[in-house]
Formats: sequence, C-alpha cells, structure tokens
Amino acid sequence: MKTLVLLLAILSSTFVFSQNRWQQRVKYTMDIDMNVQTNRFTGKQKLEYWNNSPDTLHRVFYHLYFNAFQPNSMMDTRSRRQGTIAMGRGQDWDSRVRDRILHLKPDEIGYQKINSLKMNGRAQKFEVLETILEVDLDKPILPNTKVVFDMDFEAQVPLQIRRSGRDNPSSKVRYSMSQWYPKLAEYDQHGWHPNPYVGREFYGVWGDFDVNITIDKNYILGGTGYLQNANQIGYGYAKADAKVPKPTGSKLTWKFHAPSVHDFMWAADPEYVHKTLNVKDSLTLHLLYKPTNASAGEWEEILKLAERALPFMEKTFGPYPYKQYTFIHGGDGGMEYPMATLLVGPGAWLHEWLHSWYHGVLATNESLFPWMDEGFTQWAEERVSAFLRNDQGFAQKDNYASYFSLAKSNREEPLTTHADHYNTNAAYGAASYSKGAVFVEQLGYITGAEQRDRIMLRYYDTWKFRHPDVFDFIRVAEKESGMELDWYQQYFVNSTKTIDYAFDSLWEEGGKTKIRLKRVGLMPMPIDLHLTFADGSEEVHYIPLDLMYGEKPAESSSPRKVYPAWKWTHETYVVETDKRLIDISVAEIDPSQRMADVERRTNRLVLKK
Ligand SMILES: [Zn+2]
Repeated sequence: MKTLVLLLAILSSTFVFSQNRWQQRVKYTMDIDMNVQTNRFTGKQKLEYWNNSPDTLHRVFYHLYFNAFQPNSMMDTRSRRQGTIAMGRGQDWDSRVRDRILHLKPDEIGYQKINSLKMNGRAQKFEVLETILEVDLDKPILPNTKVVFDMDFEAQVPLQIRRSGRDNPSSKVRYSMSQWYPKLAEYDQHGWHPNPYVGREFYGVWGDFDVNITIDKNYILGGTGYLQNANQIGYGYAKADAKVPKPTGSKLTWKFHAPSVHDFMWAADPEYVHKTLNVKDSLTLHLLYKPTNASAGEWEEILKLAERALPFMEKTFGPYPYKQYTFIHGGDGGMEYPMATLLVGPGAWLHEWLHSWYHGVLATNESLFPWMDEGFTQWAEERVSAFLRNDQGFAQKDNYASYFSLAKSNREEPLTTHADHYNTNAAYGAASYSKGAVFVEQLGYITGAEQRDRIMLRYYDTWKFRHPDVFDFIRVAEKESGMELDWYQQYFVNSTKTIDYAFDSLWEEGGKTKIRLKRVGLMPMPIDLHLTFADGSEEVHYIPLDLMYGEKPAESSSPRKVYPAWKWTHETYVVETDKRLIDISVAEIDPSQRMADVERRTNRLVLKK
C-alpha cells in the first residue's frame, strides 16, 4: 500500500515538475443519493489530494456554495446592498438575485452540512464559515505527499436563485446542479484561495472525478463527464444495439467519469429531450432541453451551428480536448462548466461553449482574472459569430462601445480588481467582458492580427490544463511577437488610464507636408496613421512605441513608412509625406478602430478643398 502511494506521488510530481510550475491534484470519488421529493441528497466523498507544492499544509479549505442561499448570507447582503446603488434608470443589482434570498423559506434555502470528515482515517476538526469550510489538520500534509479525505455530507438544493438550484423560474428545470458538492479550494504559488461565495467566479483544483448519482429512475441526466454505464441507463445514451434493462427499483444510478477537469456539474429533469451529434470520431455533442421557453427547432439548431463552427474554433483557438460536450437547458442565463453548459435559452450556446477553451482548459483563477476568462471568451465569441454570419466587418464593435462607456462612467476599476470586490456589478461586467475582449483585439493592433492569432494558439498550447495568469499570457505574447509588452499590461490591465490621440497641426515645409500628432490621453500606444490622397492612393505611416522595442509587420499592401519609436514621455510627434497638403483628402489615426481611443472623433481629419 505504502509503495503504491509513493509511486503515485512520484508519478504525479514528475508530471507537475516537468511543467516548470507545480500544481495540486485531486481525485474525487462521490456517491450521491438524491430524494426528488425533499430536494435533499446525501453524499459520500472520497478526495485524494496530492500536495505537489514545496509547502507543508497545516489546514485546508473547502467551498460550501449552497450555504450562500440563506437569508442574510454574504451573497444576500451584498446583493441587497447593490440594490441601493442607482444605475441608469435601475439599480445595480443582479436581476436574478435581487432580494430573493431574503425571502427563501426553510424548504427553499440551500445548505451543505458536513457530518464527518477524516484525513487518512483520522477524524478532523472543522469549522463552517458560511460558504467556506476550514479544516485544521491534526497532522500537516508534507510537500510531495498524498492524503485521502473521507467526508459524509448532506445537502438541500436551493430554489434556483443564481446558477444552481431547483425549478428555475423560466423553464422549471428540476435540477441545475452546479457548485453542488463540497469542493476543495485551490492552493497555488500564491497560497489558498478561500473566497466566500457572493455570486461570481470560480477556481478549482485540476483532477479526475468519478461521480455516481442515484436518483428517481424517471429523471434524465447530463453534465460533466462520460457516462460509464450507458447501456444500463438508456435515455439516448446506450449504444443503438444495446438491450437496456428495466430498472428493478424506483431509482437508477448514473456513473460518470471526468478526467482532467477542475469542476463537475450535472443537471436532471424527467422531461428532457436528449439529442446527440457525432461531429467527428473523437467528439460527440449532446443536447438536453425542454421545449418550454424556446421551440425544439431553436434548441436543435445549436447542434447544427456547433458542427459548422467547430473546425474554425479549433483552428483559431486550439483543439477541444474532450470526447464530449453537452448543451443543457437549465440555470439562469448561461454558465460554463467543464464539458458542459447550463443555458436558460438557446441563445448563449456559443459563448458558453467557447468557455471550454478559456475557463475549461486554461482555467485562470477567475476571481483574480475574470477578464482572462470572460473577456477572452467574449472576444472569441464575436469572432466565431462573424464567421458563422460570413461577416467581414469589425466584429468587436460592441465590446469597444461598452468599454468606452465604462471608461467615461467614473465607475471604472482596473482589471486587477478581484471579481468579488468590484464596487458595482455594472463595472465588473463591462470590465471583465468588454474591456477584456478589447484587450485581445487591441493586442492585434499592437503586434499585428496574424501574430496575435499565433499568440492565442501558443498561449493555449503552452498553458492548457494549468492555471495561467496575466504574466504568463504577456510572456507568451512577448515570445511570439518579439516585442516587449509589459507596458501594455501595466497601463491597460493595472490602471484605468485611457488612450486618446489627436491631430495637432499640418503644414508644408521644404516641399513636404508635415503632420504633428499629439497624445492627449495618459496611455501611450504605437500609431498607425493612414493618409488617403485625392487620386485615391494611400500611405501608411507607422510609429512604434519606444517601450515595445520592436515593430509590427505591415498589415496591408499600401506603402508603409516606419518611423523611429515615439518616446512615451513625449507628447507630440511629427510625420511627413512627399505629397502636397492640398492632395491629402483624409488623414486618419487607426482606421481599423482596434486602438481603444476614447475620443475617436479626433482621430479622423477630412481636409476641405
Ligand atoms: Zn461567459
């Protein structure tokens, strides 16, 4: 037994150290027994935990997310506080949460109760701090060792308020089971991340899940993981030629296995319609829906569009690594989980599926870097939507518009803000989704779009199944582009400084036309200046920023003049053309509009003749 444990420890540490940064590892084995009358379930959880860190751990933390759905919880209190902040004509609260938690009755609240917890067979002392379980270990977990936790717990599924729960308001899906089990918090190079649950963003330990769910035999399930006993279950999962036995009792046990994931979600309803589509040998798409708030045709369109989008998605963002993905009707809006999503309607399918790349596989700490998940996903969604529409226009227009109004709102907080601690939901949303998307698109302005696309692929390939942060992303971008890019992080991520360039003056001198540009905003950028002449010809004048120590390749076939770098301390810069001033019809800074200049109307000069 000891030899086996040692061997496993060696195997897992080799795996981790070869990646140059350690990461913890888990294996969950859970047996769940659900009572669909009381909406309560019992759980036995065996958690194997590999401490691959160089640190000795004296305590561990678990998340108990369901405890947020109780009157006066932190989520409830925070939500009601947001309701006191005026936002346009409404309030800043999440319309799904509002003050609903305060009014939950005892059989509508959520809870997770820990009946016992052992480590390596010894009972452990623990304390429930609302949505966090703190366990003070009787013996520390040494570096590069593995321990086994055994937990008995019971839980009540809350009435659907946010993300998880039962009987969601719009479509009465019985169970949307996300954040449903006691989940070990992540410990990484920055230590523990026991974030109390106030409504948003997650971070989990990489590992494998074996989950056996025993539930009323009339319920149809879907979620993270591959169904291991499909031929005993049926419901569209069994092989075509399988003889599915009739269940003998009132319940069925569904056995799921999910390798290399950091969370496990499932959903259940007796009225689900289950459709599947093999989009290639190695991938089956599943769809579970109820034709309530949208028609069967609208739901089933997802599978057709997904099949069409997949080759473009894999080419642009990297290969999807699992054998299965499931679109599930449930939840409230759209929410991503490994190998599956909960969708309240068919509309958000693409966004949520794209989370498989940035949340599912890249798995940044979303609490610290929500924009690296939501923003990157939002950016990718606009690209794939444009592909599906065959639209050659500027796909990220709406993200820029949303960022501009944030930048002018006086509510902007830097992207470094912890997701839970933004002062307003509005600023969190616009920063994480829109400014995050602008970050990626604007990177393409700095490095060139083709190089940016290579950066995104290299980032995925380098950091898949790990937990990259913003520094890791910037390093990949620097290596791929050959440019220094730390300044981009410092200005656009760490600060709320904005970009604004304008024309200062134009004049003729020594047979040339001189154009003086000025930096009005505090954030410096490289400049593409396009000149269009009366005869229809065009010139591109490109001024790199000194901090880049590099220049982007030409992006069009128009003649391009590359200038010495613009020093970030200098407010003005003069460019020149051999053409006469009278021949210039339009001078425009960044006609591609990828530079997030907050005063775009000062970027284009139409010269009167
Ligand atoms: Zn999202």
